[in-house]
Amino acid sequence: MNFIEGARAVTPGELEAHSITRYRVTKTYREQIINSGYYDQLKLIVEPSFEELESPGALDTSGEHDNTVVPGFQHKYAQTGLLLATERCASYCRYCFRKRIVGKDSDEIATDLGEIARYIGDHPEMTNVLVSGGDPFVLSTGRLQEILNYVLPFPHLSSIRFGTKMLAYGPRRFEDPALGALFQRIHEARKAAVIVTHFDHIGEISVDAELKIRSLRARGVQFFNQSVLLAKVNDDPEILAATFAKCHQIGIRPYYLFQGRPVKGASHFQVPLRRGLEIAHGINQRLSGIEKTFRYIMSHYTGKIEILDLGADGRVYMRYHQNKDPEKVGKFFSRQYVEGACWFDDLAEE
Ligand code: SF4
Repeated sequence: MNFIEGARAVTPGELEAHSITRYRVTKTYREQIINSGYYDQLKLIVEPSFEELESPGALDTSGEHDNTVVPGFQHKYAQTGLLLATERCASYCRYCFRKRIVGKDSDEIATDLGEIARYIGDHPEMTNVLVSGGDPFVLSTGRLQEILNYVLPFPHLSSIRFGTKMLAYGPRRFEDPALGALFQRIHEARKAAVIVTHFDHIGEISVDAELKIRSLRARGVQFFNQSVLLAKVNDDPEILAATFAKCHQIGIRPYYLFQGRPVKGASHFQVPLRRGLEIAHGINQRLSGIEKTFRYIMSHYTGKIEILDLGADGRVYMRYHQNKDPEKVGKFFSRQYVEGACWFDDLAEE
């Protein structure tokens, strides 16, 4: 197998044992990152590294298995249902937190849409369904329409969200004229159609992606962006501020900036929380008020934790952005910082 550091013979057993994600990069993305001038940083997103063989961690850091209520459907937070529509992506990110699923044949993918629909029907507190994977836009528009057949009838759902990196990996997917009817159906069902893009770096945002986003926005699709803070890729306030400002300019609201998770085979991408907070503050210093819509988040087993500050008292201040227990949402709390800590569990317990 070719790694960034050179070719190395690896057995299928080693690949399995280290949970090495299969290798795949679209031609479009390769050309985009070469032409962007940021190839040295962006190649780390898609090119395998020897570090994957050494990176310690777990394969399900956010408790996805425990929150699966029907195969392929998770319900962790009251308002949101998460539907894993496929295990395939157009290219495979080396830092993916769903390494246990993507690029493999997985039994965590939704197969029985009827059973999922029955579950949604029994849960009127759910207000939105997030269609994710893998990348739902590797599926045919016909298959996406089929998913809509099962979720659109519920009046308690006010939005249908698609999480995708396809606008980076293959923006031409959005040239499909049949997608117009798909989003129109969502609107006619009186729901918001939302695409959550996944741009980690301004060098990933191509002219073509911008055109597709502008055209979908004209059709009423709302856009949010999520990024992952990645060592040696985008751990720079200048770059992330430019990325978020570009998102704002083309009509995408910068949303989550995720702290990298301690995923086996990907934890070398983690940035210590001290540095992450410096970067988050640096981004905020560079953006105007209306561009400053991101939250620096740790998607932890216990909930989505917003990382706010490292105080002069050496404590990391946080609050729950989402928690299974509504009483905890919005509550501030703190833990003593431990030098080099990259994750909530690395902080000192009192
Ligand atoms: S596109 Fe998303 S699901 Fe696919 S490998 Fe990248 S992060 Fe993982």
